[in-house]
This record gives sequence, structure tokens and C-alpha cells, in this order.
Amino acid sequence: MLLIIKKHLFTVIVLSCFTSLLSEAQKMDFEEYDPKSTLVVPTHILTRSKYPFIDIHNHQWDMPSQDLHQLVSEMDKLNMAIMNNLSGRGYKDVNGYFDVQDSMYFKRAQSNIRSNYPNRFIQFTNISFTHFGQKGWTEHALAELETDVRNGAKGLKIYKDLGMEFKDDQDRRIPVDDPRLDVIWEKCGSLHIPVLIHSADPPSFWDPMDKYNERWLELKTHPDRKRANANPAPWKTIIEEQHHLFRAHRNTIFIAAHFGWLANDLASLGKLLDECPNVNVEIAAIIAELGRQPRQARDFFVKYQDRILFGKDSWVPSEYSTYFRVLETADEYFPYHKKYHAFWRMYGLNLPDEVLRKVYYKNALRIIPGLDKSLFPQ
Ligand SMILES: [Zn+2]
Repeated sequence: MLLIIKKHLFTVIVLSCFTSLLSEAQKMDFEEYDPKSTLVVPTHILTRSKYPFIDIHNHQWDMPSQDLHQLVSEMDKLNMAIMNNLSGRGYKDVNGYFDVQDSMYFKRAQSNIRSNYPNRFIQFTNISFTHFGQKGWTEHALAELETDVRNGAKGLKIYKDLGMEFKDDQDRRIPVDDPRLDVIWEKCGSLHIPVLIHSADPPSFWDPMDKYNERWLELKTHPDRKRANANPAPWKTIIEEQHHLFRAHRNTIFIAAHFGWLANDLASLGKLLDECPNVNVEIAAIIAELGRQPRQARDFFVKYQDRILFGKDSWVPSEYSTYFRVLETADEYFPYHKKYHAFWRMYGLNLPDEVLRKVYYKNALRIIPGLDKSLFPQ
């Protein structure tokens, strides 16, 4: 009797081992799954843009002492005529908090540009929010801004820390449309410099990190990007503050970074652009959103062709190819360069030449006065 039981038990164990091996082979992590497409369609890999372009959203973190020859040779390969460094004031860490360098840093960066490639680089400056709310902050910030513009700053860049990280002297979150900042936006208007502003992040960062979240892989690989719903503030609150700012300062030209995080909802973005003629947008880091809705995105680019600028953000020259391919070609079902931004395949917008020219350089030349027009075709 005991022998029969033992024999039976042995059979059960062997069988269950076999089925578990089989299900192991069928099981795979999402991150591991990387199917090779068998689709055969025309393919156009573009390493250079069709027209020279201005990258309105770039960051160089060592502009005062960087070797610009190397940088320019990489730009030339891409057909990038002008790079805009949005981090004109650099970066410094003050006890774990972000702050910008002083105006001498900006001046040194400008002098490196002027003595090497005066027409290939421009810079936007930044303002420090340290001591915000204390007496004298405003006067100091305005004076610094004017000094930087005198030294060549072509615009002001506001980081996403405003509305999320920066606190005032009472330790309260500074809303994007804080009235204490009104004088800054008005000053930019009277100095005729645009404000490129990044507020919030993709809305998925505020959603539960579960199987329904489109950015699940990004949140898994970059856990610091997850935002709690109420802390620092809900996504909608920060975005509405930004839109309020646009409406309240009609004489100031704004460039909403990353399509104002509305690239996945172009109808809403169109409404904002209709309502605020002082607002423009740039495409940094949202090309995957455009590439998954080629028909709607193409219509949007045609309709708002005077309001869209080219930007990329992180300086990885090989990744520009994806941008050129989405904007210029009619290619179908091709991959994005990072799986954590887009696990989907993309389609080219096949933009008309005149729209391409505006996005690549004409709109930036109009919005930012004083650039070298001879670098571009008429
Ligand atoms: Zn950026």
C-alpha cells in the first residue's frame, strides 16, 4: 500500500515539473518581449534633416569651458544650424535643492560662444527661486534678468521645478501663476524675449502605477518620476496654472515645452492655441505621441504651422533621426528609440515642405530676433 502511494506521488511530482517547465517557456517579461517586425514596407532612415534647423530645446551643462568645435561638428552632421542652450545659468545643488549659477557664469558662457561660434549658439537665461517671497527677491531677479539680456540672453527658460519643487519663504509650493511673478513675465514682454516654460510632466506620472498605466515601464525604470496625486499638486492644477499664466500675460511670448504635455490630446492643445495667440509649442520628447497619430498630428501641424518649433531636450545626436523620420517621411510601423517612452510603433507625418521649413527654422527666426538668417534658405 505504502509503495503504491509513493509511486503515485512520484508521478505527480514529475508531471508538475514538466508543466511548470512548459509554462516557463510561455511566460516572458514585458521588458523582454521585443518582436522583430516581419512587415515589409519602404524605409527611410534619415541621419540629417531636409532643411537646416534650430534646436530650441537643448541643454549644455558646461558652456563656459566646453570645447565647441566638437559640438559643432556633431551639429553639422545632423544639419543643426543653431543650438539653443536653455541652461544659460547652469546648475548648482544647494543642500539637495536646485539653483542656478550667477550672472558671471552666464557671461563666461556667452564669451565662449562669441569667441568661437557666435552664430551657431544662443542661450536662454534662468532665474533663481532661492529666497522667493522675501523682501528684495523681485528687484534682484529683475536686475539679473536685465543684465543677462544685455549680455546676450535671447529668452528666459523656466524649469518644471516651478509648480512642483520650488517653495517660497513660508515653505509653500509656488504655483506657476503666482502673482508675485507677474513682474517677471511682464518684463520679458517689454524686453521682447520669449519665455520657454516647462510645467508638470506627462499626466501618467500622476496615475496609479498599474497594468493600465501607459508609462509603467518608465516609472519602473525611473521611480523618481512618480508623482503622488496631491503632492506636489495634481497634474490638472499645475497645467491650469500654466494656462492661466498664458492668458494673463498676453504681451509676453511663451513657448510651452513638450507641447504643454498635451501631445496626447491635440484637440485640447488646439483650443489653447486658438485662445492664446501669444503661445507657441515645441516638440521635445513628445515625438512618440505624434508618431502614433500620424493623421491627426499632420492636420494639427498644417493648421498650427506658425506655432510649432523644433526641440529635442537631451543631447543624444543619434536620437534626432527618429524626429526627422516622423516629421519628414511617410514610413510606416517603425520603432521609437526608447522602449520606456513608447512600446508602440510609429508612422511618419510626411509634412509638406513649407510646414517643415517653419517648424525647422522659420518660426524660431520670427520669435527670436537677431539670429543669423544667412544660415537658412529663404
Ligand atoms: Zn529640458
